[in-house]
Amino acid sequence: MSGHADPPRVEDGRWHCPIDVARYDRNPVLDPHERVELALMTRYLTARNRHGVQRSACVLERLIRPIEDVLVVTRAPKGLRYDVVNLLVREMHQRQSAFWGWTRDTWTDVEAFNKPSSPQRHARHHVIAVAYFLNGYTDLHLHSGAYQYAYSLAVKIFGKPAVDASIERLCAELRAWGYTGAWLTRETPRALASVLLVNGSPHLEDLTAAVLERVRKGSLRPYLKRTFLALSTGLASLGILPEPLARDLKDGERFGHPDPLTGISPAWSAWCTRWLDTSTLNPTTRRSVFHLILRAGRWLSLVHPDVTGPEQWNRELAAAYVAAVDRLTIGQWTVAAQRPVGEATRSVSAGYKQQHLYAVSTFLQDCQEWGWIPRRFDPRRCFTTPRAIRAQIAPNPRVIQDDIWAKLLWAGLNLRAEDLPRGLWTDQGTRPNAARRPWYPLEMLRAIVLVWLFGGIRRDELVRLRLGCIRWQREDVGVVGSADALHRNAVCFLSIPTNKTGTAFAKPVDAVVGEAIGCWEHARPAQPPVVDRRTGEIVHYLFSYRARRVGQDYINGTIIPMLCRKAGVPEQDARGNITSHRARSTIASQLFNAKEPLSLFELQAWLGHRTPASTQHYARITPTKLAQAYAEAGYFGRNLRMIEVLVDQDAIKDGAAAAGEPWRFYDLGHGYCTYDFFDQCPHRMACAKCAFYVPKGSSKAQVLEAKAGLQRLLEEIPLTDEERAAVEDGVVAYDKLLTKLADVPTPAGPTPRQLAAHKRAELAVIDVSTGERTE
Ligand code: SF4
Repeated sequence: MSGHADPPRVEDGRWHCPIDVARYDRNPVLDPHERVELALMTRYLTARNRHGVQRSACVLERLIRPIEDVLVVTRAPKGLRYDVVNLLVREMHQRQSAFWGWTRDTWTDVEAFNKPSSPQRHARHHVIAVAYFLNGYTDLHLHSGAYQYAYSLAVKIFGKPAVDASIERLCAELRAWGYTGAWLTRETPRALASVLLVNGSPHLEDLTAAVLERVRKGSLRPYLKRTFLALSTGLASLGILPEPLARDLKDGERFGHPDPLTGISPAWSAWCTRWLDTSTLNPTTRRSVFHLILRAGRWLSLVHPDVTGPEQWNRELAAAYVAAVDRLTIGQWTVAAQRPVGEATRSVSAGYKQQHLYAVSTFLQDCQEWGWIPRRFDPRRCFTTPRAIRAQIAPNPRVIQDDIWAKLLWAGLNLRAEDLPRGLWTDQGTRPNAARRPWYPLEMLRAIVLVWLFGGIRRDELVRLRLGCIRWQREDVGVVGSADALHRNAVCFLSIPTNKTGTAFAKPVDAVVGEAIGCWEHARPAQPPVVDRRTGEIVHYLFSYRARRVGQDYINGTIIPMLCRKAGVPEQDARGNITSHRARSTIASQLFNAKEPLSLFELQAWLGHRTPASTQHYARITPTKLAQAYAEAGYFGRNLRMIEVLVDQDAIKDGAAAAGEPWRFYDLGHGYCTYDFFDQCPHRMACAKCAFYVPKGSSKAQVLEAKAGLQRLLEEIPLTDEERAAVEDGVVAYDKLLTKLADVPTPAGPTPRQLAAHKRAELAVIDVSTGERTE
C-alpha cells in the first residue's frame, strides 16, 4: 500500500478540501469479483502476507486508493495506515458492501468507535477522517465521549496551522475578557474544533450561528454546552456572528420552562400569542401576563372547553373564573411536569391570585380596546380582586435583625479570597479533588457585596450599574439653608440606572462603596458592550466579566450565602430567607431610625421611590426605638398613683388585727380609709366617706398617728382613665367622677347619694349650737 503525495491544503490563506471524491468510483455495490477479493484480502491481512495484500489492493483499487489518500492527508504513520485499511476491509467483507454506501449508523457501528478494547481503537481518528472526507459525515466526533479528541481530529483534517490560528484568534478575545485556566486552554479548543469540523472549514469567518446551535444540540454534557455561549459571544465580538447564541432550551421549552402551550386550545393560544406580539407592557410584565392568560386557557380547556376566544367571555364566566382563582392551589393549571410533589392541596398566595386576575383583566381590556372583540362587559369591574384576598396583601419589608446585619457588614468589609465561591473549573480541569478557582475576581465580588450592604438598591439596579457609576464629591460644599458643610470625599454619588418605577438618578453612598467600585473598575478587563434590555441602550455593565453580566440570581444564590457563611449566621431567620431586597428595607429602616434620621421625603429620594407611600413601608420604626419611646411616654407610670399606707404594727402584735380591728390605714389626705381592699373600692379617688372612713381630725386618727409602732409604706394603685382625669384635670373631671359614682355602693353598703342624704338628715334633726331640731 502506498499513498499519493500530500496535496496542498492552504491556498491564498484559504483551506481547500484536499480530497476530491468526484474522481473516485463511488458505486456502493460490490461486484462478485470484489467480494471474492475482499475475502482474500482479509485472509492476507490476517496472515500479514504483504505480497497478497498488495495484489488485492491493486485489484480493489477503487476501494483502497481513496482510503489511502485520506490517510496521507491525515499523516497517519505507516503502521496505523495498515490498521485502518485492515479494519475497513474486514468491515466491507463482513457487511458485503463498499464503504461508499455506508450510512452514519454504519460508521458509528464500526468497531473502532464503540469498543475501548478494540485493537484498532487508536486508529479511530483516521477512520473518522475517512468517513469525513469520503462520506461527508462531518459530525461523527460528536458521539458521546468523542468530544475530547475533536482538536486532534481537526488538526488531522485541516492541518495544525489553520486550526491553531482560529483557536488563538478566539482565545485572545476571550482571554482579554478574563477567561483563564483549563476552560480557555482545553475546553475552548475542543468546542471550537468541534464546530469547525461540523462546518467543514477551519476558518472562523465560515461559521454561522446555525452550526454552533447544531453542535450544542448534540450529545454534549450540559457543562460543555455552556461553553458555546461564551464561544458565540467571542465570535459575535469578532464580528463573525451577528449576536451571541440565546440560552439553550430543550425541545418543547419556551423561556426555559416546559412548553406553556401544552393543554390549551390552539385558538386560545393564538389569541394569547397575538396579544403578546401586540402588547407594549414592560417585557417582564408582558411575559408574566402571557403565561397567566395561558393558564386561564388551561382552566378553560378543563372547565369550559367550548370557550376558546376572548369574545366568548361574559360576566358569568368572569365570576366563575374569579371564584376558581380564589380556590387555586399550587400546581393547578400548570404543565404536569411542573407540579411540585406534595403541594397539590396548598393554596397559592394572595398576591399570586391577584396576578391571575390582573392578567386576564388586562388581556380582555386590551382585546376590547384594540377592537378585537366587542365590549360586552367591563373586565376592570368583573375581575376586581375580592376583598378577602386584598386583605391578605400588604407590603411587608422584612428588616434583618440588628445583630445579624452587623455580622453581615463585618463579613462584607473583611471579605478575603478564601471566602469566594469556587467555580467549576480548575487549572487542571474539572476534577473534584483539584483546587477550584473562583469564577469572579475578588475585587468584583467585594464591590458587589459593599453595594449590596450600603447602597440600598434593588437587585435589578445592582446588576445593571454602569461603568463609571461613581462620582466623587471632590470639594467641600456648603449645605443650602444651614451653616453645615459637606466635606469632600465624605460621600460619593452612585448613579442608579432607570428602574421599574423611575428614571435614572444619583444617590449618596458611603465612601467605602466608591472605593470598592473604583478598585474593581481598575482591575476589570475590557468587556464588550451589550444592550440594556430595559432601556435599549448600548451599555458597559460594571459587573460584567468574561463578556457576561452577573446574573440577578447570583446575589441571592451565591453572594448572600457566602456572606452568611463568613459571618456565621444562618441564611434565614424568623422572617424567611435573607434576600437582596431585605438589605434595602434594613438600610432604609436604620436611616429612618438613626440619631439624626433622614426625613420621609429624604428617604424617598434616597430609595428612588416615586411616592412617599412606598417609602412608608420601608421606614419601619425599630423595636428598640419604639420601646424607648414607649418607656419615655410613661404610659404605665401615668396610670398608677402612689398612696401612703400606715400599718399599725401594734395592732398586729397584740392580736387586735386578728380580732377584726383595722390595722392598715390608707391616707386619703383628709382622712384614712380602713378598708383592707382599698384598691378595689370604686370610690378610692373620690372617697364617699363610708363606714370605713376615719377623719384625720378625729380622736381615733390622732391616737393612730401618735402610735410608736406605726409604719409608713407606699402602695401603687392602678387608675382608670376617669380616675386619672379626676386627679390630673381638676374640679370638672372630679365632679364628673362623683356624679358617675353617686349611685355606686361603697364597700360599707350605702351609695354616696344615700350617705349624703343620711348626713343631711342628721344635720336637720339636731342643731349643734342650739341642740334643737331644725330643718
Ligand atoms: S368609700 Fe369607704 S372604702 Fe371607699 S375609700 Fe372611702 S372610706 Fe374607703
